[in-house]
Order: sequence, then C-alpha cells, then structure tokens
Amino acid sequence: MDRDRSAAPLWRCPLCGRTFAARNQTHTCAEVGDLDRHFDACAPQVRATFDRIVAVLQDIGPFTVLPEKTRIAFHVRMSFAAVMPRRKWLSGHLVLDRRIENPRFTRIETYSPRNILHAFRIASPAEVDDEFTVWLAAAYRVGEQRHLTG
Ligand SMILES: [Zn+2]
Repeated sequence: MDRDRSAAPLWRCPLCGRTFAARNQTHTCAEVGDLDRHFDACAPQVRATFDRIVAVLQDIGPFTVLPEKTRIAFHVRMSFAAVMPRRKWLSGHLVLDRRIENPRFTRIETYSPRNILHAFRIASPAEVDDEFTVWLAAAYRVGEQRHLTG
C-alpha cells in the first residue's frame, strides 16, 4: 500500500504552487515568516485569537491561509474571510450568503445577494465562541461555492 500512496500524484496548490500529498491540504500560502510578520506589532492575545480561528476552521475542512500585504485571507475556492491584525484586536470580515443582523458585526456590505461582507472586531480567543463558529462554518460554505452549480 505504501507503494500506491507514493505513486499517487501530488496536489499542487493553484495559489502558491506548492505540492502536497492531500488535495486542498490546509496550509499557509507564503514563505515561512510572512504570516508571523503580520503579528509583529500585536499583543500576544491577537495572535492567539487568530490561531483559534484557524483551529476552528480546521475542524470544518481544508483551506489555505493567504498572507497578503495588508490582510490575511482564508480561501477555499474563493476567499471567504479575512483578518487584519491590529495592536490589540483583530479586525476582519466574513463573507456570508445571507444578511445576519447581530451587534457583533460592525458593518455589513452587500456585494451581491449571496456575497455579503460582515465586518467584525474581536480581541480574544474566547470571542471565537459557538456563535462565531457557526458563522465561520457558513462563510466556509460560501468559500466552497456550494451554492453555485457546475
Ligand atoms: Zn498555497
């Protein structure tokens, strides 16, 4: 069986070009250190909050972390969430396919009926609670583009 496994083609991430044994392997699409740099000026709590979001998403399915210039995006077939580390909190947004009125969202912007940005600001891992996890899972499904056919 080991021979079969080694013979299987590697999956190549279309975003960073790295290859992995498992299709859609969860990974960070960047050089080692690119992600950490985003947290240089942050309180440790901010990184812990980010790590908690990553851990919750890993229970939902594979995804890639994209450290960009000014934000860190979460991507499946499309980016479904992004965070911008600040000194004492994490600013960010989730893309949801319906509007969720909740005071925890600081801003809601509708780009299309099924592409609705919900901005948030969280400052501790404890804020990534059951309610937030439900929203993360909903955003993940948008990232998978499950609602689109073909
Ligand atoms: Zn990648």
